[in-house]
Amino acid sequence: MDREEFRAAAHSAIDDILAYFDSVPDRRVLPAVDPGYLRPLIPENPPVESESWDQIQQDVDTKIKPGLTHWQSPNFMAYYPASVTYPSILGEMYSAAFTAPAFNWLCSPACTELETIVMDWVAKSLGLPACFLSTSENLGGGVIQNSASDAIATIMVAARERRVCELVLAEGLKEGTVEFDERKMDLQPRLVALASDQTHSSAAKGALIAGTRFRSVPTRLEDDMAMTASRLREVLEKCEEDRLTPYHLTLTFGTTNTCSVDHFAEIKAVLQERPEWQRIWVHVDAAYAGASLVADEWQYIAKDFAEGVDSFNTNMHKWLLVNFDASVLFVRNRFDLTNALDITPTYLRNPYSDMGTVIDYRNWSISLGRRFRALKIWFVIRSYGLNGMKAHIRKTISLGNTFADLVRGRSDLFEIVTKPAFCLTVFRIKNPEIPNDTSGAVCNKDEVADGITKKVYELINTRGEIFITSTVIDGIYVIRVVSANPMAEEKYVRNAFDIIVRTTEEVLKKKP
Ligand code: PLP
Repeated sequence: MDREEFRAAAHSAIDDILAYFDSVPDRRVLPAVDPGYLRPLIPENPPVESESWDQIQQDVDTKIKPGLTHWQSPNFMAYYPASVTYPSILGEMYSAAFTAPAFNWLCSPACTELETIVMDWVAKSLGLPACFLSTSENLGGGVIQNSASDAIATIMVAARERRVCELVLAEGLKEGTVEFDERKMDLQPRLVALASDQTHSSAAKGALIAGTRFRSVPTRLEDDMAMTASRLREVLEKCEEDRLTPYHLTLTFGTTNTCSVDHFAEIKAVLQERPEWQRIWVHVDAAYAGASLVADEWQYIAKDFAEGVDSFNTNMHKWLLVNFDASVLFVRNRFDLTNALDITPTYLRNPYSDMGTVIDYRNWSISLGRRFRALKIWFVIRSYGLNGMKAHIRKTISLGNTFADLVRGRSDLFEIVTKPAFCLTVFRIKNPEIPNDTSGAVCNKDEVADGITKKVYELINTRGEIFITSTVIDGIYVIRVVSANPMAEEKYVRNAFDIIVRTTEEVLKKKP
């Protein structure tokens, strides 16, 4: 493809992308294809001769689009959203054009420096305490990671190194000696990472990657599935009994199942009770709900992170208008990361890195090469402005409230299982054989209601007009509905509710 062919192809691709966005609301949100649908449509071997852009683009239309799940559809109400916006796409275009895997500052100073500046912008936009800024006295700062899972695995490795080195130093061994390293390896298997049983699976995976144990703190429906101080204390005491060393605690701001928020303040108070608990690395995983902090009315939550929290992550690619991948991780002390992850062979050395006056982001993450993701974040923040971003959060939270009110309004059919939060409503179908419970609490924890809820959920997704997800909370089968992508609108939320009501009535009628 030469320069002029690229110009024509790029124009045509942009037109096609715009037409795709225009068509998204009318497309079936889930594709009607079977597993393996694509292989017969694509030649078995790659083409020997060059093909035209027209041919390639035609195949996108006829072979790829039919197999897409349309995450941008306003009828997509499953999982959590994965947003994309025009300025974000432009950021991706420039990033691809500049392709400069800036693992060291020298490899492309603009990539590193813009990332540092933009991470400070993000921290300020979210009202994070000043300790997470790159300009802080404590040498904090932010780094863009591929995903929340990468961020969590990265900080768990850093937390393990910090704790195990402290333990070995306390035994009087000297860093850099064989004895020191051997002792670290002896102690590592006794280290344990903690998180609630509602924490995303990335915490358990992070512990696995860090080569340590993992234990979960139980949650209860009566606490809205949040981690409480008393439950955590019980697990910490059990670890002590079992002679394990807790080194990392994941707290969640917006769990995957129900968007519940762990009890930060009281948990931090428990960690102050023993000197060894004070050494635990506390991480706040706000992969989805962290975006809400951009709106002033939620920023009080971030005040809890000023003390006793070592790191925080949120995925701008979920709810904050930047496309995947844009997971932002902030740490209180950058040396916790670089002490664990800086391995510098001769070929990576250069005068700037050696002077220690620049940031080399390869030492803040697992991968060496990195994409220029700061550009798209910069473009989005500038295009929307803080007011535009706040407006998006407020509008979608209000849509969530509308949906929750609709569910409450049909208490003959539905019961809300956990407190609706940050656009998410978690509910189930009532068992009509059990009389209404007007208190709103879950009253019929039985298999009949579970079976009906599952049937309704499956029928809705099979028909594909809207896409929703289900999960199990404290043994109860529930439906989750969240409408928060940039195309979300009230008419779609109301339509989704009508579909759920119609399908529920249909299933209840058929019930033997
Ligand atoms: N943490 C929470 C609370 C999540 O909801 C999710 C995914 O939905 C993750 C972590 C993992 O995110 P990622 O796909 O960026 O690894």
